[in-house]
Amino acid sequence: MAPTVRTEATVRTGSGSPARATRWSDSLILVVTRRCDLRCAYCPTVKDGEPDLSPSDARRAVDLFVSRHGGGDCKLFGGEPLLVPEAVEAVIRHAPPSVNVYLSTNGSHLSRHWIDLLHSFPGVTLTVSLDGAAADHDGLRRGARTYDTVTRWLPELLRLPRFVVTQTIAPSTAARAAENFRHLRSLGLRKFNLLPGYFLPWTEAQLAALRVSFDAIAEDFESAWAAGERLYLRNLFVRAPTPFYNTGFVVDSDQRIYPNNLVLAGAFDGLRAATSIGTLDAPPSPDRLAEATAAAPAVLEAAVGAQVMESTRRADGELTRLCNRLYPAYFDMRARA
Ligand code: SF4
Repeated sequence: MAPTVRTEATVRTGSGSPARATRWSDSLILVVTRRCDLRCAYCPTVKDGEPDLSPSDARRAVDLFVSRHGGGDCKLFGGEPLLVPEAVEAVIRHAPPSVNVYLSTNGSHLSRHWIDLLHSFPGVTLTVSLDGAAADHDGLRRGARTYDTVTRWLPELLRLPRFVVTQTIAPSTAARAAENFRHLRSLGLRKFNLLPGYFLPWTEAQLAALRVSFDAIAEDFESAWAAGERLYLRNLFVRAPTPFYNTGFVVDSDQRIYPNNLVLAGAFDGLRAATSIGTLDAPPSPDRLAEATAAAPAVLEAAVGAQVMESTRRADGELTRLCNRLYPAYFDMRARA
């Protein structure tokens, strides 16, 4: 999946947040392929003309990460990772207990094999994209009908120990985001990651609609928690030093290493040479990684047009606002549990 639908570390909760948050320095992000069978309307990933990560290189990246950091989160992204099943399976089977594996997929290549494998590795978190009811979900995929494909697997997916749905909210669907969220709940889904589309030109009206929708979703969470329902929002537990994209030890499908996955986006394609900090054969030192991470916000500001940057910042701000509103209710619920 692309960075805009995989940028789960978008909520700037601040170092003082009482929530247990994923630390960016503990994340390995493996772009196992940039290829994808879909063309989602909100996706900025450059998909063609790139190699895939081989299983042996994927394992090598995990080993390197473990030797440097001891462990942490390993996120399998794309493109669509399940188009390179050998590399995905290699990581799942190879990762030591100190590594939490996250697999993000558009769901169109789910199969009995993957369900069985995930039952065998219950520590792996599977995240599937489902943006709401069929009309919006398939509409955002420019008519590719994956809603039926994904929902067909839901009875099986709901039995997995760690299964999360990412609901991406595009500017065109912002007004229906709460409606779509309720539709997903009606399918039995309980674990969510909400994601407004980034690097898109949101209008004032769309941002206002996003706020209204997030308020309605917040009310749903608060009511559910007050009633003792176990409803989970992943956004409450992730943070990043800079919003909008995943930061960490990023290994691209061509083995180049970056301090974030911004480089997947077409807008940043020309910055590959300038932002790459090594390869699997010549990895960066931890200091070099930290230095490049610190420099990333300035690179981002310089590369994105002011209007898109501002609307991205504001869409992300709405997500942060949602989380900040929910923390008290979340901690109340935890205290009562
Ligand atoms: S599934 Fe959609 S968002 Fe993910 S990589 Fe493919 S086109 Fe992009």
